[in-house]
Amino acid sequence: MAIMKIVEHPDPVLEQPCEKVTEFDRDLVRLLKDMHETMMAADGVGLAAPQVGIPKRIAVVDIGDEYGRIELINPKVLASRGEQTGPEGCLSFPGLFGEVKRPDYVKVHAFNRKGKPYTVEADGFLARALQHEIDHLDGILFTSKVLRYYEEGELEEMEG
Ligand SMILES: [Zn+2]
Repeated sequence: MAIMKIVEHPDPVLEQPCEKVTEFDRDLVRLLKDMHETMMAADGVGLAAPQVGIPKRIAVVDIGDEYGRIELINPKVLASRGEQTGPEGCLSFPGLFGEVKRPDYVKVHAFNRKGKPYTVEADGFLARALQHEIDHLDGILFTSKVLRYYEEGELEEMEG
């Protein structure tokens, strides 16, 4: 396993639609492991392949809840509803946090590392993390959805 270099804005790889995965092979498994390790080392809750310079429809999410590590390959949002507004950041924008409005619930269809299809339903923070990562695969960055940016110190006060 290896920790990969996280690509930061304004690298163009972050703003292009990613290609579908067609080969569910050992390279894919290795990439998923490396991405998870990279995400954990960076203290993130999600990481998309373009964030490590690979424009493919692959992402990992792990918010440290009972869902554990979620591996998303060729994910698609099947349904969404409700509304949530809250703070969001991105490993490709170090130190930047903004308030983003998203659906509160999503149902996502994806494939696992073996190429087996599955669906995951989530609400609240996990739904937010899933949507943030799926956006990355379409070249959409959270900054395009920010209602307002938090000032330094504001978020710590909110969370504290
Ligand atoms: Zn991000």
